[in-house]
Amino acid sequence: MKYYILFGPPGAGKGTQAGNMVETYKLKHISTGELLRAEIKAGTELGIKAKELIAAGCLVPDEVVEGMIESVFNTTTGVEGFLLDGFPRTLPQAKALDEMLAKRGEELTGVISLMINDEVIKARIAHRAAIEGRADDAKEETIQNRINTYHNQTEPLIDYYKAAGKYHEIDGDGGPGLEGIEVVRGRLTEVMKNL
Ligand code: ADP
Repeated sequence: MKYYILFGPPGAGKGTQAGNMVETYKLKHISTGELLRAEIKAGTELGIKAKELIAAGCLVPDEVVEGMIESVFNTTTGVEGFLLDGFPRTLPQAKALDEMLAKRGEELTGVISLMINDEVIKARIAHRAAIEGRADDAKEETIQNRINTYHNQTEPLIDYYKAAGKYHEIDGDGGPGLEGIEVVRGRLTEVMKNL
């Protein structure tokens, strides 16, 4: 099985690109953000706890997302691999993932990082707020907190995966509009060819 991580700051286009990738490579897409939003919508206990943290631009506890990932690994059949989007976001999550894979006799195939700068992040999220209506996209303070959380807690993963020889970075800014999405898709395809 293939295990890919689609990495990058909030608004980097992970969800958008994941849609294409899962079809092309017959992968199961696991977005922890989407799974958490589904829990909130369903009004589960987990969702109730996660709601405030997400609205504040903070991360939910590591164990919560680790459990979600493991349960999808254990219940998915008929795919050639997994595409992780939004996970791992902390070093303990990355280590937990390594352990989960080792337990399955598997290892990470590669990390593909979509890199954009903070100004592009803000512009993308402002644009998305109008389209998707996500509560955590609406408030400037929340967006800034998510950017800070990314720099403080998630960015250190870059060195972790570089040290493991798994890190592949591409420019996540392909220019405006649908054409830009296609440009980034082309860059992703080039990296995937070598994984
Ligand atoms: P984005 O990439 O635009 O920030 P996501 O949909 O990936 O959006 O995540 C939305 C929110 O869900 C995050 O800001 C965080 O609060 C929570 N979340 C998602 N994935 C994780 C994770 N791996 N660990 C902790 N919290 C997470």
